[in-house]
Amino acid sequence: MTSDAPDLHPHRLNAIRVRAQQRGIDHVVVYSGEDMAYLTGQRLDSHERLTALIIPADGDTPLLVLPSLELTETVRGAADLVGATVLPWADGTDAVALVAGKVSGRVAVSTAMPALHLVPLQLVVDGEVVLASDVIDHVRAVKTPGEVDELAEAARRIDAVHARMDEFLQVGRTEAEVGALITAAIEAEGLTHAEFVIVGSGPHGADPHHGVSDRVVRDGDIVVVDIGGPLASGYHSDCTRTYSMGEPSDRVAEEYAVLQEAQRLAREAVRPGVAIGEIDAAARDQLSAAGLGERFIHRTGHGIGLGLHEPPFVTAGAETVLAEGMTFSVEPGIYLDGRWGARLEDIVAVTADGRRDLNNGERGLRVL
Ligand code: ZN
Ligand code: ZN
Repeated sequence: MTSDAPDLHPHRLNAIRVRAQQRGIDHVVVYSGEDMAYLTGQRLDSHERLTALIIPADGDTPLLVLPSLELTETVRGAADLVGATVLPWADGTDAVALVAGKVSGRVAVSTAMPALHLVPLQLVVDGEVVLASDVIDHVRAVKTPGEVDELAEAARRIDAVHARMDEFLQVGRTEAEVGALITAAIEAEGLTHAEFVIVGSGPHGADPHHGVSDRVVRDGDIVVVDIGGPLASGYHSDCTRTYSMGEPSDRVAEEYAVLQEAQRLAREAVRPGVAIGEIDAAARDQLSAAGLGERFIHRTGHGIGLGLHEPPFVTAGAETVLAEGMTFSVEPGIYLDGRWGARLEDIVAVTADGRRDLNNGERGLRVL
C-alpha cells in the first residue's frame, strides 16, 4: 500500500476504463501479478491455474475469475476494493471458457498472461484479442505521488547499501562472497529481498547481465555493482555504481568521466513534454562523441514501479512523451569485451517542471 488516498484502487479501475474506451477496447482482462496488484492490491498468483480480473469498458461490474481453492478473505477483500463479483471455478472445469463467455469485441489482455491461457482463449473468444499494453501499461506508467514516495524510499535504502560497499567489496573475496554480503545488507535495510545482485569484476563488468561468480576480486579491478530489491509494498529499487579496486588508470578514469557526463546530460534532459527517445539520445550522443558509442550496447533505461522493468523503455527514437509522475532508470554503460565495463544507474521521477533524482549517492568512480 502507498500513502495515497483510500479510493486509489477505484480511481485506477476508472482510469483503465477511460483509457480502454478511448482506445476502442471492450473488455480488459487483467492477469495475476503486477497488473493485478496495481488494481486490487494483491498479486493473486495461482501458478498454472487461471486467475483474471475482467473489466468491462462500459462500466459493468468487474468479474474476478479464480480457482475456487484460492478463495480466501484476502481474495474477497481484493475483489471488494474494485467492486468485483467473484466467479470461482473448480478443478476439472474450463476456466478459459468461463472467461471467454464473459468477454467480446476487442479484448485487451495483460502482457503477463502466459500462452497456456492466451492461445486457447484466442481460439474460443467471440472477438479480437489484443495486448493491453496500450491500456494498462499506459495508466501504470504515470505514478501517483504516493507511488513516487515509495520508489524514493526504496532508492534511499539501496543507496545506503552502496554507501557501505567498502565493507563488502574487498580484494581477495569472490564475487559470490561479496554478493552474499550485499544480499544481507539489502535485507537489513528492510527491503523484502535482493531481487538481483550483479558484481561484475574485471572482465565480467563487460557483461551487462553478469550475476556473480567464483572469480576473486583483484587489485586494479573495475567492478560494476548493480543491485535492487522491493519494499513490502512491491515498489522496486535498482541502482548501479562502479568501483575501482585501487587507483584507476588515466584511461579508465577518462572513459568513466565521459560516462558520468553522459548520464548527467541524460538526467538533465528529463522534463515533461520531451520524447523519451531524447533521453537516450542525450547519453548516446555524448558517448559517441568520445568514440564510445559502440561500447554502449543497450537502451538507456526502463520504467520502474511494481515491476522492476516496465514501460516506458528509454530506447533510441522512442516517442513516448514524458509526463509528470513517470519513473524510470537512466543507466548508460560502456563495455570493453574481455577487459572491463562500467555503468551508472539512477532512478528519476518526472516532476511538473523537470525531474527528481530518487537515487542520490555519489556518482563518481569510487576508489576502494
Ligand atoms: Zn540495474
Ligand atoms: Zn535498471
